[in-house]
Formats: sequence, structure tokens, C-alpha cells
Amino acid sequence: MAASGNWGIVIHGGAGSMAPGAMSEEAEAGFLAALDVALAAGEAVLAAGGGSLDGVEAAVMVLEDDPHFNAGRGAVFTYHGTNELDAAIMDGRDRSAGAVAGATHTRNPVRLARAVMEHSPHVFLSREGADEFAREQGLEQVDPDWFATAERWRQLEELKSRKLGWYDVDLKYGTVGAVAVDCEGHVAAATSTGGLTGKRWGRIGDSPVIGAGNFADDRACAVSCTGAGEFFLRVGAGHEIAARMRLAGEDAQTAADAVIAEIGTMGGTGGVIVAAPDGTLAWSFNTPGMYRARASSRGLREVAIHGPQRPEQG
Ligand code: ASP
Repeated sequence: MAASGNWGIVIHGGAGSMAPGAMSEEAEAGFLAALDVALAAGEAVLAAGGGSLDGVEAAVMVLEDDPHFNAGRGAVFTYHGTNELDAAIMDGRDRSAGAVAGATHTRNPVRLARAVMEHSPHVFLSREGADEFAREQGLEQVDPDWFATAERWRQLEELKSRKLGWYDVDLKYGTVGAVAVDCEGHVAAATSTGGLTGKRWGRIGDSPVIGAGNFADDRACAVSCTGAGEFFLRVGAGHEIAARMRLAGEDAQTAADAVIAEIGTMGGTGGVIVAAPDGTLAWSFNTPGMYRARASSRGLREVAIHGPQRPEQG
């Protein structure tokens, strides 16, 4: 796919059951403002001629620091009351990738994922080792209290007291992600999450798994997912969307819709965002809402929570 000379970025802050009217106007305004700030951070990089990798990292770092979202500060609690953070980043130019699972002290897990990609011989690090590597790389370390918020604690208590399933509490998954195409037509994807409320046994979802929750390949697209991770893992959602585009010639929206439909038939819910080298910016979700925003050099700029489940123009 040829570079269009245009840049574009799509971000998400999780998909879920946020039907219109379910949240107070004030709460909704808070989410929209938070998305707007993160979008602006990514936009600033791309509009200045920066690369898609820097653009997605900048946007995701803002979302990680914002307690509205289930990533970094504001991450959900595990069953045992800790915050264990997963993140991934991928560069579509050469499919280099970095990922971490179960980090507990690194303020911005997406930066750690990038350091794994750029400064280690590996792709995927986990738990104490991931934080140890972050320290060696000079990445900011925080007391685990930094990640904890009262609202996430309440959600854990609710899950425990009502004996709910992992996907039941508030059904707002809240994972964050960004995909972008820069003016040279290179794509990148980044995703960051605390996983699922009440997760145990070292559970890891799709978000940090390259090819599942996060994927980028200049021959096709960049993808970041949110939702019931076990389904996105089984489908290999990110790679599947890219493979459909590369091998079957589908456009980004068609491929995203098909994979979300397939996840739906398996019983999974969630959403994806996609950016293609030709400048197409797509999303698809099968939940009532998905926190999302997108912007492009062509003047597109929108921030939304509720429908439509696919954009009116790519
Ligand atoms: N996909 C994430 C996971 O399963 C959850 C989310 O999207 O919020 O860990």
C-alpha cells in the first residue's frame, strides 16, 4: 500500500456497556476531555512530521496517567488487591515489537514495552523481571499506590461480594490503545491495560500479546483491541485483521467488522481500532459503546463514546 502523505491516528479507552444516558453528563464530559487530551498528544507528534511509533506512545502515555482508564494509574485490581500491568507496542516498518505482562512498579508500561523492543534482544518480558529491566533502562518507578484508585477498589469489592464473573463488573473494559499512520505511510500500534478486575493465577489477556490485542505491519495495518481478552487471544484478532487485508485484499473496515463479528459469534464482546498506510482510520465494536477518538491531516477530528459501531467515513 502506497503512502498517502497524510497522517492519522485513532485511540481507544476501552469498549463496554456505556449506553447513552447510563453515565452522568459530568462523568461523560470527563471521559471526552480525557480522550481529547490523549488524542492531542498523538496529533502533535504526527502533525510535526513525527513517526507513528512516537505518536502512539505519546497518546497511550497520557491515557496511562489518566485515572479514567484501566491502564497505568486507574488500572483494575487483581483478586488479591494488586495492580498488574500489561502493555505492547509494535512498529509496522519491520514488525519489531515489545511487550510486558504483570509489571507492578513502572509508571508507564508502554514506555517499558518500547524499551523491550529497542534495547533488549527479546519481545516479551514479565513480572519482576520486566520491572528490573525498566530500572536498568532508567524508566520511572513508582510506589504501587500510584496505580490504585478508589473506584477500581469498589469494582473489585462488587465483583467479590456479588460473585460476578470477570466480564460482569461494569462491563467497561477500559484498556487503552492507539494506532497511527505517519506521513510516510508507516503504521504503529500500542496497547496498555490492567487486565480484568479480579484476575488471578497470573492471568494475561490479549492486550500485551503481539498478534492478538496489538499488531502492526506496513503491508496491511496497525490494530489495537479492547474487550474480553480470551476471545481476542483465540482469534489472534490483530494478526487476523492484518492477514485479511494483506492476503484477501479486504479494506480496514471490512476486515475489522468481520473479526468483531466472528468474536461475537464465539460469545465475545469488545472492539478494535485500525489505521492503514493509505490513511484509512477504522473502528468496529459490538458493545453499546467504546471510548474512542481520531484525527487526521485531512481535517477529521472526533471524540466519541456511543455509536456508531463503525465510522461513517474512513
Ligand atoms: N482486553 C483486556 C484484557 O482482556 C481487557 C480490556 O480490554 O479492558 O485484559
